Amino acid sequence: MNFHVITIFPKIFDSYFSESIVNRAQKSGKIRIKIHNLRDFAKDRHKTVDDTPYGGGAGMVLKIEPIYDCLRFLKSKIKSTAAAKALAGKQNSITRIILFSAKGKKYTQADAKRLAKYRNLILICGRYEGVDERVVKYLADEEVSIGDYVLTGGEIPAMAIVDSVARLIPGVLGNKESSKNESFSKKNYLEHPQYTKPAEFQKMKVPSVLLSGNHKRIDEWRRKNSKSKN
Ligand code: SAM
Repeated sequence: MNFHVITIFPKIFDSYFSESIVNRAQKSGKIRIKIHNLRDFAKDRHKTVDDTPYGGGAGMVLKIEPIYDCLRFLKSKIKSTAAAKALAGKQNSITRIILFSAKGKKYTQADAKRLAKYRNLILICGRYEGVDERVVKYLADEEVSIGDYVLTGGEIPAMAIVDSVARLIPGVLGNKESSKNESFSKKNYLEHPQYTKPAEFQKMKVPSVLLSGNHKRIDEWRRKNSKSKN
């Protein structure tokens, strides 16, 4: 699976994407993450990607032209790879374009599962007062929010989507980290509490059933202590 992130702050991603599972998934070729600097698609010598809002008001708005040009560039690249793959008899390209916005549809685990089926995800990170609405209306397939609060930019949402989608791709998680029985793996399901050694710490004890070695009772306890949301 290919993730393409469009941002004006490409360095933000260096640290997160070079650690842990996401890094391993890239090294094993299960996912590819490409960060695209929106400024590279600006036409003027100042690399302008924003302008003042029509109608007045505070702040700046990301312009449609560099986003349009970046998407066109990505689509042409994806198309040529897809054509090569199709010729080789492999899976064809399916691409989804997502724009991050506090007013978008709230992202859930069901969306992560749905998006994990695409071959290419293009993630557009907004900044400042947001993005020219024509990007939402005419260029993006979805407008996604990661919660009812306002962040400074779409970079944290992009990391959240890459992480939550990547871990659902077969082979990305090892057996030990399997996503099969975790929270939201079934509708509204929340996983049971987890404990590790020591069995007692400053008089705080692990439930004795978990130390019993009786797997039937442990399974029962886990079932009882997993929750259903709502
Ligand atoms: N003026 C906008 C509003 O009132 O909704 C807020 C813009 S915010 C400061 C800048 C960018 O951060 C947005 O364009 C979006 O890409 C991103 N962003 C902020 N909050 C977000 C959220 N909850 N979910 C997804 N993206 C968010």
